[in-house]
Amino acid sequence: MLTETTGAYKCPLCGKISRHRIVVGADESDVYDLDTRPPETRRSTMFSWVQECPYCSYVASKLTDRPPVDAAFLKTPEYVGCGGIAFQSDLAKQFYRLYLIKTRVGDARNAYWSALEAAWASDDLLDDQSAAACRKLAIEPLEQWIEQQPDNEHLKGMKIDVLRRAGMFDEAIQYAKQLTFSDGFLQKIADYEVELAKKQDAACHKTDEVQ
Ligand SMILES: [Zn+2]
Repeated sequence: MLTETTGAYKCPLCGKISRHRIVVGADESDVYDLDTRPPETRRSTMFSWVQECPYCSYVASKLTDRPPVDAAFLKTPEYVGCGGIAFQSDLAKQFYRLYLIKTRVGDARNAYWSALEAAWASDDLLDDQSAAACRKLAIEPLEQWIEQQPDNEHLKGMKIDVLRRAGMFDEAIQYAKQLTFSDGFLQKIADYEVELAKKQDAACHKTDEVQ
């Protein structure tokens, strides 16, 4: 069950106040996607994971957080034009802009999540082209995160899925083949990913498909 309310937030860059939807309760009653996207009802709470000031277009996980960029960053062509990606989803656009901000400040982990979330929001509107573009963007920060945490097998497992769902099937297969997971379930997921990639299947698959 999803419970939500709204709250007023002051934009730290332009000073104007806007209202945003806030989720106060959500549950998870199904299985996760292979890339860790949660099931319903949490799956449908993405609108509350990013807040955009409607006046200056600044985005943040929470507008009350201390801004890591200044107002000039919001005028850069990449921010204004969303990197030339023809997003069909406003939510995906917001996550893309959050990705730009996180990349700018060198936060690889959150740049990765924001790019992946832009892909998820695009998936929901069947905007396959933007979703694939965002997954391609997610690879570099994910690789940086893996460099920071070389023993984290979950990150490597996610990378296989990101490559496959970006349509980079050969890269997904090659990457998976060079890995050995100490976690048996992750190894099964990696094997399944290879099977899917060999069939050039870029669709969403869930963890309960793995035997
Ligand atoms: Zn603002």
